Amino acid sequence: MKPFLITVDDDFEVSRAVERDLRRKYGEQYRVLRAESGAEALASLEQLKLRNEMVALFLVDQRMPQMTGVEFLSRAISLYPEAKRALLTAYADTDAAIRAINDAQVDYYLMKPWHPPEERLYPIIDDLLEDWHATFKSPFQGIRVLGHRWSPQTHQIKEFLGRNQVPYQWLDIEKDGEAATLLQSAHASPEQLPVVVFPDGSSLIQPTTFQVAEKVGFRMKAEQPFYDLIVIGAGPSGLAAAVYGGSEGLKTVLLERQAPGGQAGMSSRIENYLGFPAGLSGQDLARRALTQAQRFGVELLSPQEAVSLRVAGPARIVTLADGSELSGKTVLITTGVSYRTLNVPGVAQLTGAGVYYGAGMTEAVAAKGEDVYVVGGANSAGQAAVYFARYARQVTILVRGESLSATMSYYLIERLKQTPNIVVETCVEVFECRGTSRLESLILQDTKTKDCRSVPAQSLFILIGALPYTDWLGDTVLRDEHGFILSGPDLVRDGCLPPAWPLARAPYLFETSVPGVFVAGDARHGSIKRMASGVGEGTIAEKMIERYLDEV
Ligand SMILES: Cc1cc2nc3c(=O)[nH]c(=O)nc-3n(C[C@H](O)[C@H](O)[C@H](O)COP(=O)(O)OP(=O)(O)OC[C@H]3O[C@@H](n4cnc5c(N)ncnc54)[C@H](O)[C@@H]3O)c2cc1C
Repeated sequence: MKPFLITVDDDFEVSRAVERDLRRKYGEQYRVLRAESGAEALASLEQLKLRNEMVALFLVDQRMPQMTGVEFLSRAISLYPEAKRALLTAYADTDAAIRAINDAQVDYYLMKPWHPPEERLYPIIDDLLEDWHATFKSPFQGIRVLGHRWSPQTHQIKEFLGRNQVPYQWLDIEKDGEAATLLQSAHASPEQLPVVVFPDGSSLIQPTTFQVAEKVGFRMKAEQPFYDLIVIGAGPSGLAAAVYGGSEGLKTVLLERQAPGGQAGMSSRIENYLGFPAGLSGQDLARRALTQAQRFGVELLSPQEAVSLRVAGPARIVTLADGSELSGKTVLITTGVSYRTLNVPGVAQLTGAGVYYGAGMTEAVAAKGEDVYVVGGANSAGQAAVYFARYARQVTILVRGESLSATMSYYLIERLKQTPNIVVETCVEVFECRGTSRLESLILQDTKTKDCRSVPAQSLFILIGALPYTDWLGDTVLRDEHGFILSGPDLVRDGCLPPAWPLARAPYLFETSVPGVFVAGDARHGSIKRMASGVGEGTIAEKMIERYLDEV
């Protein structure tokens, strides 16, 4: 992207002449923008700022009726402090120009007329541009999120972009001067954060993730009227089924409510997945799997949530959160699990403001140099702790039990021991989270003595087991007492199939109590809850779906 050279002059003839001379010499490497008043130039600058364009130089006439050159430059500094500033003056204005070197930090003043430019204009501009290049850092060319670190809404937007692998720059309104300038250019106030600024210069004030998704260009509407296979949930199980469905020529659509990758997408490093001896991040795996599925013609609708399922003759109809419907011959439910909530005082109010569910990778960098607490004793908590230890001063894992050995893999326990800034505290639980607008301290209770103590804390990450994402199904398919979906042989009770089962044959492996509706992965009753098993189940379920399709 070429930087701008901006010239401002109210005299049309002079202004055109400057523009022409600048274009002639610099047109290949720079864009030249001409304005005929300070006000017009400032309005253009605000737009350029929102689009994150670079401005290398201002060349401004001092004598302009509404706003002098010096006045304009003093205001332009706040938008583009690093741009070089040159004043165009008449001989009579020399004194004003010299004063401006101090007052408006003007880098140079040029006398009118500047002809021939080869002698009286270009050498000076060359010099200024060389200087600008030597010190200038290219701006980030992408989405920028302005907000408060402790705002749940800001966290939600960051988490959404991060998990969907959309590159963005986060600007903390309390720490980053650039954020305040941008906020002004977007005509928003600090009470209206978060604000998302897009590379085309447009911005969304306090947007929902759906609005951001729409603007980024995610597809949320189905292309086909009818599918062979509707997969609900794009975690490892759903992605695997979609890859195989697509590769077997099934018209397949994959729905995802948050971000492809599911729980695996939250894992900073999966070290026990077959074929990756150095481990891989869940997001990497999700990205590869999604590309593979799309290569086989699978349609991804994301973010898009299934809210109900019904049967209409041979069709299985899924209603989406936006009220639209998808019809297909078969449905595969791979909705996985969500985090179990920690029900102690303060958690609900402070969620997103220092208290987070899951590994919260988007917050890890912000916690640099701070003390971080992780609640949970399973592998996911161990992995999160190892990841945070790269940024935090100290990571403390809070475990209710007496040791980690029953709940965490051996390799991770060893990793925790080898990481000097990780501390494991056993026989302890969070009794209360305290803080007004953000987490400030934790009250921890010893599970044996019941003694309580307070510790200062800015971040708490909760990873304490999971519940299936299946409530939206109601009674459509049979579920166990915890909500996990029954399928295949698990539907048989005392040698009998459920009374509502309508077919002479028994349900296929992973087929639910509704023929043509299948389940795989963590949402399934009896599943192993590992990535490889989810991938395996998704693959097998797809094969069973082909068998079902052969008979309808
Ligand atoms: C932090 C962490 C680390 C882990 N590390 C490992 C590891 O190292 N090794 C290992 O083997 N396993 C690991 N696991 C477990 C592993 O990730 C899971 O077993 C696996 O992701 C389960 O896959 P799934 O596809 O069944 O469900 P999920 O991964 O839970 O995916 C389900 C998806 O469905 C979506 N969804 C839910 N409801 C709806 C709806 N109504 N409409 C549309 N979409 C919906 C969700 O948003 C989600 O994306 C880890 C888990 C976590 C949380």
